Amino acid sequence: PQRIGILTSGGDAPGMNAAIRAIVLAADHYDLEVIAFRHGFEGLLEQNYLQLTPNHVQHILQYSGTIIKSARCPRFKEVASAQQAARHLAELNIGALIVIGGDGSFRGAHHLSQHWDGQVIGVPGTIDNDVYGTDSTVGYSTAVAIAMDALDKIRDTADAMDRVFIVEVMGRNAGFIGLKSAMAAGAERMILPELQRDKPLTIEAIVKHIKRVEAVRGQGSYVMVLSEHQWPGGAVALSEQLEAEHGMPCRPCLLGHIQRGGPPTATDRVLASELGVYAVELIREGARNVMTAMRAGALTTVTMEETWSKKNPLPENLLRIQHEIFNPVKKSRQPR
Ligand code: ATP
Repeated sequence: PQRIGILTSGGDAPGMNAAIRAIVLAADHYDLEVIAFRHGFEGLLEQNYLQLTPNHVQHILQYSGTIIKSARCPRFKEVASAQQAARHLAELNIGALIVIGGDGSFRGAHHLSQHWDGQVIGVPGTIDNDVYGTDSTVGYSTAVAIAMDALDKIRDTADAMDRVFIVEVMGRNAGFIGLKSAMAAGAERMILPELQRDKPLTIEAIVKHIKRVEAVRGQGSYVMVLSEHQWPGGAVALSEQLEAEHGMPCRPCLLGHIQRGGPPTATDRVLASELGVYAVELIREGARNVMTAMRAGALTTVTMEETWSKKNPLPENLLRIQHEIFNPVKKSRQPR
């Protein structure tokens, strides 16, 4: 094709701008025009777009967010929406569309591909890392770095006061941010969706663990990482419960959208750059309905359907280390 379209959809992720820049620079390199739709699929339906040239993408890769805006667009699930989008793409003479987003956005991309004969290519952009087929999504590394930084800061004050803290992190229904930031910051405990599914923690088990850690170490701080949606009422409710029902002073800390802002890590900028260029090169090779991915250091693709129908498991070895080797409470060890 002579013209390709791009859009960012779903939750924004650090590194999306780096991906946009990479796509525009690669397109320029290969003499393709880039039409960017604003606000995700909404822009496709509303014909809200602009042409992007290398000038537009100068010095944007160091900023999180997305210069072409992202949005959720519930009506895109309708057949009529996909048909309308296909019409608009045809009118604009666009032969390929790159969708930067998470698994929901790829469902949308796939839905479009069933009503449009252009090439659809995905670039994984979400902090949650919950997209099958790639070791990391664009934004994940930055979210983990931000959570780690916050946990380090919480540790300082927790240590000074011998306090229990519950830090709530994002992740949708996946524990990647929780697990990695907990390990990076040496948290005493983590509550992750994948673990809750097998064996949900009770308040009694949490209290017991905190008391045993105190007994093993003497006084000290205790920092728990809680993935979002994994406790009714979240970190605030859990710490109130610990304090009111079990006399255990505890403070909550909600990181929230702080995890999506600030300068993206070098890892995310470079990943976004490689995946963005690869997406353009795949279009030139005639690929369709696949997502660009990085696995074991190599560029690869997965089919669009696989990105949401399969699930990346949490890294087994990190779980083992956190549970068995770094757990302050050893089954075999008596409290000192
Ligand atoms: P994140 O998880 O980081 O927020 P995401 O891409 O998974 O990113 P979603 O809100 O799940 O975010 O999806 C983004 C958009 O994709 C939706 O608002 C909708 O426009 C489109 N979409 C999602 N599922 C479908 C579907 N089944 N059919 C058509 N479009 C869909």
